[in-house]
Amino acid sequence: MLRLPQFNVVSPETVPEVVEALGNTPGARIIAGGTDLLPNLKHWLDQPPALISLARVTALRGVRRDEQLGALRIGAGVTLSELARHPELRASFPSLAKSAGLVASPMIRNMGTIGGNVNLDTRCRYVNQTEFWRGAIGGGCIKSEGNVCHVVPKGRNCVAAMSSDNVPVLISLDATIVQAGPEGERELPLASYFHADGTAHTRAKPGELTTELRLPLPKTARRCDYIKWCVRRSIDFPLVSVALRFDLDAAPDAADADQAPITSARVVVGVLGAKPRELKKLDAVLGKRLADPEVARIVSEAAHKQCRPLANVPYEINYRRQMIKVHTRRGVEALARAG
Ligand SMILES: Cc1cc2nc3c(=O)[nH]c(=O)nc-3n(C[C@H](O)[C@H](O)[C@H](O)COP(=O)(O)OP(=O)(O)OC[C@H]3O[C@@H](n4cnc5c(N)ncnc54)[C@H](O)[C@@H]3O)c2cc1C
Ligand code: SF4
Repeated sequence: MLRLPQFNVVSPETVPEVVEALGNTPGARIIAGGTDLLPNLKHWLDQPPALISLARVTALRGVRRDEQLGALRIGAGVTLSELARHPELRASFPSLAKSAGLVASPMIRNMGTIGGNVNLDTRCRYVNQTEFWRGAIGGGCIKSEGNVCHVVPKGRNCVAAMSSDNVPVLISLDATIVQAGPEGERELPLASYFHADGTAHTRAKPGELTTELRLPLPKTARRCDYIKWCVRRSIDFPLVSVALRFDLDAAPDAADADQAPITSARVVVGVLGAKPRELKKLDAVLGKRLADPEVARIVSEAAHKQCRPLANVPYEINYRRQMIKVHTRRGVEALARAG
């Protein structure tokens, strides 16, 4: 049996009370659904003095359209099940409804929140193990209790993987994240929230919590999708993930939008290192129709060229690299067929 370390639990009811509780207890951790934090604590990857529970903070719940901001506002406490079945999300942001519905299993999606998913700790085959297992390979690694990296033995940084299903999609949809902390509230692009250090991969400031994610409402027709490749069909983190988004030169509800040329392409790949990778140099697809076979070729070759998986999660790295190419191509082709 895996035992938890001892900790106090604090249950504030408002966002300012959460900020105050975090300030009062150095080392405390936020717990939302607990579906990632508790397994990590059972592996003794941290021993916080207290958990600050968000369960009673009603202000973090709900999804609402804000015409003034021109955005869909998603509270950090919204569960993944709620997101997966939300009618407006399914209609306007189907890739996000899909990625939320692909996380783990129904029970985990009923508990797990989008705030917890965005702040999910990075993962690595050498650290998400029991304390005994880590000891058996020579006392852990940079991210746990050691000072070496088993993935990049000469490296000085941790390259554990950002394995959230929703983050690549949110970035592809230009999401922003709202953080509340001792200095007040700030909003920043989700793409700039992450950096390439697996031991501390977010730019959350001390004492901050995530309160909301905002998705700009589409102004033109758009085709988007999320592709997750993993070994099992359920209860499995992605081993390769790709979020696709193409804007088309047509009104959002235009019947013939699929004939319209592409005006912008955003492709974000997950599970490489500690931050998602946005593909560059996709300009060659602009002006083409999605159904043009060149689009799938250009995007999948860019994915293959720009993405080099590491041995931080299971499966052979060259095979995973091929899977990125294959699934990117299939994803673009499926989007073209769907139109
Ligand atoms: C068996 C299993 C399979 C899984 N499979 C997947 C998968 O396929 N894809 C996937 O993406 N995830 C997967 N997960 C991970 C996890 O279930 C989800 O990512 C879930 O969304 C986490 O949300 P939570 O509310 O439970 O977060 P918690 O476990 O409560 O917290 C996770 C982290 O986020 C922090 N946090 C939580 N809320 C906030 C907030 N509002 N502000 C700041 N920090 C916050 C916590 O301090 C903690 O560090 C899996 C987990 C398990 C146990
Ligand atoms: S990438 Fe290296 S340092 Fe980071 S968790 Fe894995 S083995 Fe440890």
